[in-house]
Amino acid sequence: MSQKWNVETIAIQGGYHPHNGEPRVVPITQSTTYRYDTAQAVADLFNLDAPGHMYSRISNPTCEAFENKMAELEGGVAALATSSGQTASTISITNLCSSGDHFVAIGALYGGTVSLFTNTLKKMGIEVSLVDASLPIEELKKFFKPNTKALFGETIANPALDILDFEKFSALAQEMHVPFVVDNTFATPYLCQPLKHGANIVIHSTTKYIDGHATSVGGIIVDGGNFDYTKDDKFPEFINPDPSYHGLVYTEKFGNLAYIVKARVQWIRDLGSYQTPMNAFLTNLGIETLHVRMDRHCENTQKLAEFLEAHEKVSWVNYPGLKGHKHYERSKKYLKGNSGVLTFGVKGGAKEGEIVMNSLKLAAIVVHVADVRTGVLHPASMTHRQLSADELEKAGVTPDLIRVTVGIENIDDIIADFDQALSNI
Ligand SMILES: *Cc1c(COP(=O)(O)O)cnc(C)c1O
Repeated sequence: MSQKWNVETIAIQGGYHPHNGEPRVVPITQSTTYRYDTAQAVADLFNLDAPGHMYSRISNPTCEAFENKMAELEGGVAALATSSGQTASTISITNLCSSGDHFVAIGALYGGTVSLFTNTLKKMGIEVSLVDASLPIEELKKFFKPNTKALFGETIANPALDILDFEKFSALAQEMHVPFVVDNTFATPYLCQPLKHGANIVIHSTTKYIDGHATSVGGIIVDGGNFDYTKDDKFPEFINPDPSYHGLVYTEKFGNLAYIVKARVQWIRDLGSYQTPMNAFLTNLGIETLHVRMDRHCENTQKLAEFLEAHEKVSWVNYPGLKGHKHYERSKKYLKGNSGVLTFGVKGGAKEGEIVMNSLKLAAIVVHVADVRTGVLHPASMTHRQLSADELEKAGVTPDLIRVTVGIENIDDIIADFDQALSNI
């Protein structure tokens, strides 16, 4: 098994182990359908009595190789590839919470996640409490009710860049007996493995650093296999017969794979938001250089952060690798590097910031983050536009905030571009 390999080796060789004469590289299995020798073979698949593929809405060999690699990278037991990061976030919660349930999410979150949690999941009857991460544990406990079924947070919050206090929140989740779901998109398993710090479920928008080249929208849910759903009656869907699967009991049949099997055979089967084989192929190709890219992203971003911090026209810079950052020490405790995103404000404010953005030549204005190319974004008018003033504050977005996704181009060229753009104000 490749579990004992280091992350760098798994990134390249994990998830797919060809036999004699088979393709060295994961092939794209561009087939919706699979062929069987007997009707019984299909019946066994439908009963979940035998492993194998039946239909590419539910599983596919290319996606499976990608899922296995991600599970190994995160140190989990299994994974499920989804059509987007949003779908991964959605299913990570709906697999635990039904209508009438509640969950707690740690305040500084990606804007799309905030609107999913506060609007769309609410319409489905699932309620969220967005909590301030800095509250003492006794205050945080007050948000938990008998119908609270999950705790959700981001390793490095997008774009607040707060670092998750794993020790505090994993202890909280454990005491309240709810799964701790962590969005590890910005850190990637190369910089941080949340399952080693008490998380139970890890999700990613693989659209970001996992793909790394801005080619494929996708998501993944990794199951740590380390949460006991049978301990109390909080998770009836895990321990009672599933009528949509002729009375199957997930924890009995699948043990510590109950969460991820249920996510696939209920949610992906019924909603049909599985990843496509083409995207899984491209994303898997991206992962092969994850460690090399992430080292360069971290190095370049640190240098740009230091340059901006020293610049007379810059009023503030936010990057956890800067000594003055509020989570500088916490980052060193949990992360191997601070990833490739920083935020800053220019003196004057939003209007001057816009001049700088429009003057950049190498760095493009993009909504995307976390690929090999340098780009900039103004969240308050772009990605976080739908959020209220209060939600913006909770997400750590000020009106003058410019988010930079630092690529892996030559750092001197990146710095020169920001230098000339800043000279225009
Ligand atoms: C982009 C992003 C998402 C959403 O993922 P998509 O692939 O765009 O659907 C979720 N969480 C974080 C932290 C993100 O950056």
